[in-house]
Amino acid sequence: MEVIKQVSTIRQRVQALRCSGKSIGFVPTMGALHEGHLQLLQASAQENDVTICSIFINPTQFNNPDDYKLYPRTLGQDTELLKTVGCNVLFAPSSEEIYPQQQPLLQFSFGALEDVMEGERRPGHFNGVATIVSKLFHLVQPHRAYFGQKDLQQVAIVRQLVHTLSFDLELVCYPTVREEDGLAMSSRNTRLNTEQRQVAPTLYKALKLAEAQLRKQPVAKTKAEVAAYLTSVHGVELEYFEIADPSTLQPVQDVRKVQEVALCIAAVVGPVRLIDNILVNLNEV
Ligand code: AMP
Repeated sequence: MEVIKQVSTIRQRVQALRCSGKSIGFVPTMGALHEGHLQLLQASAQENDVTICSIFINPTQFNNPDDYKLYPRTLGQDTELLKTVGCNVLFAPSSEEIYPQQQPLLQFSFGALEDVMEGERRPGHFNGVATIVSKLFHLVQPHRAYFGQKDLQQVAIVRQLVHTLSFDLELVCYPTVREEDGLAMSSRNTRLNTEQRQVAPTLYKALKLAEAQLRKQPVAKTKAEVAAYLTSVHGVELEYFEIADPSTLQPVQDVRKVQEVALCIAAVVGPVRLIDNILVNLNEV
């Protein structure tokens, strides 16, 4: 596996790959790799001639300076893991390489898509995501790019970005990989202590509770029950629970009018803010 740190080098490498007709699969990450990332990489390795992974903790998408400062950094270990899943190139640039000084930050607008949930609670977050994803797509020029459903709103924003800026690539949304107790895998989970780790799966439990209730009772009652359930759990502070249309992400008021909903949750556990979601097909019993 080749490790590239310079923008000029990744450009040359990608140009050579494109010229020789190779298909490129791309998995952008912020490192501290876990099984969720590795499954995305394995999917890419199966479906493309060459797989490129990027590891870049993108400062412009963090609205909380502590979250950025304390984000786990495990590049040595990540590099070894990448070698085991068929990754061919690791692109791991520095911040200076990606954001040369005095470059003004572009402003993106995603309309209603970013007015809800993560966009509403994390001002500037999706602007940072759109900036880095655009830059990486230009540098890596992938045929396919792999993103996790775990960050459902991010997938919707990137889908919009690809469409609006005419990026010539296929976006692949990969299902959320979970721990045995249901907790969605996340690099931030390593910052939970034993007690916090024990209560963290209640986010997923709340989503499953909501799924069951939603099939037999109205939206408002389900939302109230989820809130009550999480209030009863010590150590979990609910930020939001939303029942949303999976493509527009706008709140759904009456599930009888839709076929599928996304149940989305964010909560703070100890030092970490966790998010999760599940898609529910309401026609299935
Ligand atoms: P991150 O390093 O957290 O920015 O994540 C990089 C990519 O991996 C994003 O597309 C995430 O949605 C995806 N990802 C993170 N956690 C999981 C998971 N548990 N299951 C599937 N994909 C994930």
